Amino acid sequence: ASVCALFGGVVLAQYIVAKKKRAGKKTRIIEMVMDRIKARTKRRTRIITDFDMTLSKFQVNGKRCPTCHNIIDYSKLVTDECRQKLVQLKNQYYPIEIDPQLTMEEKYPFMVEWYFKSHTLLVEQRLQKDKLPEAVRDSDAALRDGYEQFFDRLHQHNVPVFIFSAGLGDVLEEILRQSGVYLPNVKVVSNFMDFDDNGVIRGFKGELIHVYNKHDGALRNTEYFKQLKENCNIILMGDSLGDLSMADGVPNVENILKIGFLNDKVEERLDKYLDHYDIVLVRDETLEVPNAILQKVL
Ligand code: C5P
Ligand code: MG
Repeated sequence: ASVCALFGGVVLAQYIVAKKKRAGKKTRIIEMVMDRIKARTKRRTRIITDFDMTLSKFQVNGKRCPTCHNIIDYSKLVTDECRQKLVQLKNQYYPIEIDPQLTMEEKYPFMVEWYFKSHTLLVEQRLQKDKLPEAVRDSDAALRDGYEQFFDRLHQHNVPVFIFSAGLGDVLEEILRQSGVYLPNVKVVSNFMDFDDNGVIRGFKGELIHVYNKHDGALRNTEYFKQLKENCNIILMGDSLGDLSMADGVPNVENILKIGFLNDKVEERLDKYLDHYDIVLVRDETLEVPNAILQKVL
């Protein structure tokens, strides 16, 4: 009940599933962080967020929504034979990604393997840059309900939004563009394709970002974070435990509020998510909670 009161009457109870005792503790932590964030000027707020299954939907009417990679996997841009291989890889590695029994360190080499194999297949398919918009248009990709308010409000208040994704940057940017929310305050760091002069993929730019090495990427982006105001308040959003390290490169963090979307293997993973995220949203396909918080703090 106190969580509801905290966010100004927004009914959060149905979203926040927590064991009663622990919920009390969580609520106090959130209250403390929120009070401190509110006490600061809004100019100092920044968003650091994951993309796939955090800004984008996990499922609609029981049907899974695609990740950036899946948009290509299921598009006309790859042959049936290649699609089969990509799906096989997904069936092999995604269960490892979300396995509640394995540590992030144990999963790490498998993620590298998955990305290496799937990216190699994409390069073999000679993907064309100018075909990507159509692939996105034809897909079932969807941003979470309330994304317009989310991005509009952050833009209005000049809040820097750092999208840090282990997906495909070119696809991600196209989704944002087609949704009308690729606004000037948004910066994307992700895996971008490297195209030759004819616009045909020949590899990927920079170092690979996978689900469990976001701390490396965060540290590489310290320069970007430094340009932003110091002593900042961060709202971090993710759907994976790997997303918790996305703010590792930010100097002078005053407060950080971590919001986790728990989409899959909920019962098995809830405890860990509650341990590490301040707020855990269970099977919530909307941005209502982040929006309610932003309304309060901005
Ligand atoms: O934006 P985010 O960091 O969440 O993007 C990573 C997601 O992409 C992972 O959760 C993973 O399941 C998915 N992925 C995929 N196909 C691949 C590699 C990763 O769907 N080949
Ligand atoms: Mg994600």
